[in-house]
Amino acid sequence: ELRCWQEGLREQFPILVADPGQVYLDSAATAQKPQAVLDAVTGYLTSENANAGRGTYRWANRTTALIDQARERVSVFLGDPSPSRSGVHFVSGATEGLRTVARDWLVGELRDGDEIIVPFADHTANTMPWQEAVDLLARQGVRVAVREMPYDAAHDYDMRALPGLMTERTRFIAATHVHHVYGGDMNLARLRAAAGPEVIICVDAAQSAGHLPVDVAAMDADFVVFSGHKAMALPGTGVLWAANRRGARFTPGGWSGTPNTSGIVSLVAALDWLDAAGLDRIARWTVALGARLTDGLRKLPAYEVLGCQRSLAADSTVQQRHGIVTLRHHAIGSNDLGFILAAEGFMVRSDGHCQAHQGEKTSSVRVSLHVYNTVDEVDRLLDVLAGLDD
Ligand code: PMP
Repeated sequence: ELRCWQEGLREQFPILVADPGQVYLDSAATAQKPQAVLDAVTGYLTSENANAGRGTYRWANRTTALIDQARERVSVFLGDPSPSRSGVHFVSGATEGLRTVARDWLVGELRDGDEIIVPFADHTANTMPWQEAVDLLARQGVRVAVREMPYDAAHDYDMRALPGLMTERTRFIAATHVHHVYGGDMNLARLRAAAGPEVIICVDAAQSAGHLPVDVAAMDADFVVFSGHKAMALPGTGVLWAANRRGARFTPGGWSGTPNTSGIVSLVAALDWLDAAGLDRIARWTVALGARLTDGLRKLPAYEVLGCQRSLAADSTVQQRHGIVTLRHHAIGSNDLGFILAAEGFMVRSDGHCQAHQGEKTSSVRVSLHVYNTVDEVDRLLDVLAGLDD
């Protein structure tokens, strides 16, 4: 039943239908776009393109309305229980969204002696802005301590170690919903429970939006950021959602320029497509494909799956892995493995994956799956990888 549903969806991606010999396994870098998204953009640009909020004529008014409706659409997508009190701001992507929280909110908020917690093994887009904010404050004589979010052996945030790290001066925690290398759901409801109700939590949802439901109420987040292009919209679109609670009232500066109107149109079409397909089902599909790939790799002694040590036999029950499987061959370098796979038609990501402080440890090959990937593609990949096993 899930397979039939998936086949119907896959047909809606023209780039994949055009050349079935090519297997796209890099959706964590950017997702492919369904026809509905392409049609929405073409429709907008060919019938009502104008700048927003500038004119008295129909196209301009329509564009202004589209952007207001897009904010409402994003609130619904994020399960926002009180949209009248929160804010949806359009940004160019997760990187800019996180930077904006750091520069337009955190810098003005922290006081001498405050502390923040940063997950330094997460994507650098979710580590550098916080460190830069603290460095900027230090130059102004405001000292803020940065503590590293503790991880456990399965690369989940270590909730047992967290309380020992927090003090009454802990003001802010940066977190990621789904890790971009290990694919684990970082279980942010548990993070909120361990961190207590007062601390401001900012969530990088770059790898979860479009792959599984992102529920801002369930995570009890204060800020949530994601990239449109990873959620099947055009590049250059992104969302910064702010709850505007706990004193984290957010009024970003410098938003008087022209919005990315066609990008925002593509985002609405993408969110409509994803919700119609069903994010729960999409998550079930990518988790199942990822598990199939991981299970296959575990039978091949030449490979190590990152975050999935053999000693942690039961670790797949600790975390759900959302269609991201990162591997290393014991003898073939990761870039070489990437080239070998590319020659066979498999598009994967190799090398270091934008993780700071990890050095050599992170050179690896990342296979990332989406709803358009098939069981057959995973099995063909495993066949090629098995041919390199020794
Ligand atoms: N956070 C995570 C977890 C990511 O995987 C990425 C994309 N590589 C980013 C942030 C940055 O996203 P973007 O490049 O779209 O700004």
